[in-house]
Amino acid sequence: MTEKAYRYRFYPTSEQENLLRRTLGCVRLVYNKALATRTEAWYEKKERVGYSQTSSMLTNWKKKEELDFLNEVSCVPLQQGLRHLQTAFTNFFAGRGKYPNFKKKRNGGSAEFTKSAFKFKEGQVYIAKCKEPLPIRWSRQLPKNCEPSTITVKLDPSGRWFVSLRIDDPMNQKLEPVKKQIGIDLGITSLFTTSDGVKVSNPKHFNQLYKKLRLAQKSFNRKTKGSKNREKARVKVARIQAKIADTRRDHTHKLTTQLIRENQTIVVEDLAVKNMVKNHPYGFARVISDANWGELVRQLTYKAEWYGRELIKIDRWFPSSKRCSNCGYIAEKMPLNIREWDCPKCNSHHDRDLNASINILAAGLAVSACGATVRAEQSKSVKPGAKKQEPK
Ligand SMILES: [Zn+2]
Repeated sequence: MTEKAYRYRFYPTSEQENLLRRTLGCVRLVYNKALATRTEAWYEKKERVGYSQTSSMLTNWKKKEELDFLNEVSCVPLQQGLRHLQTAFTNFFAGRGKYPNFKKKRNGGSAEFTKSAFKFKEGQVYIAKCKEPLPIRWSRQLPKNCEPSTITVKLDPSGRWFVSLRIDDPMNQKLEPVKKQIGIDLGITSLFTTSDGVKVSNPKHFNQLYKKLRLAQKSFNRKTKGSKNREKARVKVARIQAKIADTRRDHTHKLTTQLIRENQTIVVEDLAVKNMVKNHPYGFARVISDANWGELVRQLTYKAEWYGRELIKIDRWFPSSKRCSNCGYIAEKMPLNIREWDCPKCNSHHDRDLNASINILAAGLAVSACGATVRAEQSKSVKPGAKKQEPK
């Protein structure tokens, strides 16, 4: 069974907004109090405080007069918040994550409702302590005969409300098999290039949005700290950031869905995105592409699983740009400014990115055929990425 999350914008009534804001406030307070307690126990007494202890602390807090307001909201999101804190600590102790941070009001917030705290009736979502359903804008259809298992209400830093419905999707969504296979190369001047010669770019108004963002950030920095104008400028920055994130997400979803529909096998390079962002000889466009590459691969990974396609990730040290896809000649150097080149051995003329994507496809298919680790020429191992990723 695959689990999917469907995210929608919603516009709460003033009564709902009031309740939800109080709920988010309580989630934040409980989370931060528990985090403070756990931190203190660890640093002062070298004691580990776990989820169940924080959960009984919560019961005590609710009995205190000054924290009586905790009883006015559903208890489930408060408990869920403590569970998330537990996960953050587990990740921290396993070396997978940073030490948990305090939640801040200006970042918005979220509240997770499990089955006991919401109802799904006639296609409407009702949350605990609220009579009316959430006024959701259903921008895409939920699969039929499905019930959400968890819903998360989220307020973003620019003041927009979202609800995310997690669904165990029992339907078989596998697509009819197709023959086509494709290799994808992360572009330098474009977002990516495919082995059948298509160059895909970022949405056209992306650069304008980034310019707007930089202006808004400058204006924010000029405002006096603590002033009303600074708060206004902060919301403006957050709005543009949200717009960029939305545009990018939509664009990436469209691209990955199309790639998955049209191809049985897709080969990508598993790039270490973090390292790449530091060097960006082609400026901003490059940074955008880099930042998005991880998300693109993440979406391809889970969509391939949903729809019965194969995604092969090859080692990023594979010399995809330096190798001639026609004869296998490997150039010694291939600086980033070289966009086209001629192979000295077979005289083939190459577009840098297209040549790379053809090599990526070939390397991926070799891996797929052997079903095991293959040595790449002059390089480290090429291995199929078997890491499973959950959709966010
Ligand atoms: Zn050649």
